[in-house]
Amino acid sequence: MGDLSFNLSRWEMACRCRCGFDTVDVDLVKNIQEICNHFADKYEGRAALIVTGPNRCDAHNAETPGAAPGSLHTQAKAMDFKLKVDGKHIPPREVYDHINEAYPNQYGLGLYSNRVHFDVRSGAAERWPRDLDEL
Ligand SMILES: [Zn+2]
Repeated sequence: MGDLSFNLSRWEMACRCRCGFDTVDVDLVKNIQEICNHFADKYEGRAALIVTGPNRCDAHNAETPGAAPGSLHTQAKAMDFKLKVDGKHIPPREVYDHINEAYPNQYGLGLYSNRVHFDVRSGAAERWPRDLDEL
């Protein structure tokens, strides 16, 4: 049981440089929990959320390979993660497809070989890669 939602605790959102940046965005927490609940229901099991990319302070963002300058991770509005249900990894493509359907034309969503990126940006939605077959 997390202290922010069923699956998420504040320490998991903290910047990994240990600067103490552990601010959370209410919409991000709510949506991540809804995503966890969807897969727990779908597979009738207990979902485990594995946060691979939490908040990043500006300094840590600058030294993180592949991080965009001004990334939404620096505003506590983004998370990279993967999911397991009862110890079974849910394929990132399946998580991506669910989020894309659940939040059409909204937010930022990226697919990687071992995780997804999700952010609660305002304004125009973004999806990447543009061509999913690139992956
Ligand atoms: Zn930091």
